[in-house]
This record gives sequence, C-alpha cells and structure tokens, in this order.
Amino acid sequence: MEEDSPVARAFHKFTYPRLRLNDHTLDDNLPVFQPQRDNDRSHALPTASIGVLDILPPELLAEILCQLDLRTLLDFRYVNRRAADLVNYLPQYKGITTHARNALRGILSIETGRWITCAALYEKLCTPVCEQCGDFGGYLYLLTCKRVCFLCLSRNPIYLPLPPGRASRKFGLQRQIVERLPRMKAIPGTYSPNEKKVAKCTLVDYESALHAGVALHGSLDAMLKRVSDAEVMRNSRTTGGLLPSPAFCASLPSGLVSLASPYACYTYGPGLGVEPS
Ligand SMILES: [Zn+2]
Repeated sequence: MEEDSPVARAFHKFTYPRLRLNDHTLDDNLPVFQPQRDNDRSHALPTASIGVLDILPPELLAEILCQLDLRTLLDFRYVNRRAADLVNYLPQYKGITTHARNALRGILSIETGRWITCAALYEKLCTPVCEQCGDFGGYLYLLTCKRVCFLCLSRNPIYLPLPPGRASRKFGLQRQIVERLPRMKAIPGTYSPNEKKVAKCTLVDYESALHAGVALHGSLDAMLKRVSDAEVMRNSRTTGGLLPSPAFCASLPSGLVSLASPYACYTYGPGLGVEPS
C-alpha cells in the first residue's frame, strides 16, 4: 500500500499504530508454533456420534459449547471427529483460532483455560477498551481474561499474580481456599520492559485472593487487622519476643510506622529509615 494513498491515510486514521517496543510478554516466551499436518484424514466425514448430545438442536448445542471453559471445550474436541467438527465450526472458536491464536496458545500454556470460557475470550477480543481505565487496551491478562492497557497491566497490583504462600499470608487465607483460586503456571523466560527473569512457578490471581480474603474475614478492615496481627505474632516468634510493644509503636508519628514490618519502629518513611543494629 502506498504511504500517501487515500486508503493508507484512512487506514492510519482509523487504526492504532503498532508500537515497535519489545515489552517481553507471554507472546515472546511461547514455544514456536508447529502447525498440524493437513492430512486426508482431517477431511473425512465423521463416522461416530456425540451420543445423547446429538438430540439437541444445533443452535442450542453451539450455545452450550460456547459457554464451556476452554480446557473442557478442547477436551470435548478430542472425543471424536464429529465433536471436533462441532468445535471447529463454532463461530467464536473459529474467530479466536483465526485472529488470536496466540491468546489461546498462551491460555493453554499457562493452564488457565478452566477459568475462561470460549464466549468470554471471544468477547474480550471484540472489545478494544481497557476494563480498568477505558483507554485502548492492547493486552490480555490471561489469568482471568481481562482486557487492559499497558499502564494498568504494569502498575495496578491486581494484575501482579502472587505465589500461593504469599497470597495466603497477605490476605489471611487458608491453604484450601488458596488452592481453589484462579492460578497459572509461569512459562520460564524474560518478562516486562525491565527484562525480569522468571523461573517455572505457580502463581495465583491477586484480585481473586483479595476478594476471598474480604469474604472470609467479613470486611477489608477486618482482613487487614487479622493479617497485621498474624504478622506481629510471626515476627514475635522469630525474634523471641524482642519487638517493641504495640503501645510504644503507637506513640511514634502516626502513618509512618507499619506494625506489619519486622523493623516497624525504625521506619519513618521512604529513605529516612534507621536500620536496626
Ligand atoms: Zn488501563
């Protein structure tokens, strides 16, 4: 396309420019895509049925399949050729694999498919705005399938997944609750413009953990108090009860002391803290 042509000008007017930044997202860390061989068998007509599901009208079956989570949908696709055809010709699934194959590959690679339905992913791909701020959202947060802009993705803590142990301590959650939260398996690689190296690990969704903590303790304040008390108890055990008393800490300038920190009474603000000897 000629740069000065009317079509090119219209194209630039109605589209966003593609940034030439390497921000090290999951796309850059996924294994190389190996397309399946197109053999004669894939064109053969199905010979098996899908059992009792065949009595449903096609429209209803399509609606049900679309509401399945992606992991279950792909498991169903592997049942037989008839099931594969039903999934392959689902308009939403076809749209995803045609235009956003990497989104699906990313979801399957980090194993978050059981929390995201085919309909939800398709809807996010058809929505241009960031769910947080309303600006253009060029990224998908694949743990819970949210469309976000770079600033929200990189600055808002709810898009920073946590190791399960840290989520448990931060929100006062028992292990059984943390195990039910949306979680992902990190693909080892380099992430973010800061080129942070990430090893193989499991991470849980921050926002889901926060909501679970608030639901468990009754309110945000109750949760924060419980977490703070638990932290003081832990520090007291590790330091043999040598921490200053809460009354002494409370007498220090308000707002500058965090009882949750093992160095609570030495911290007077960023850069002004006096390290304990
Ligand atoms: Zn945003």
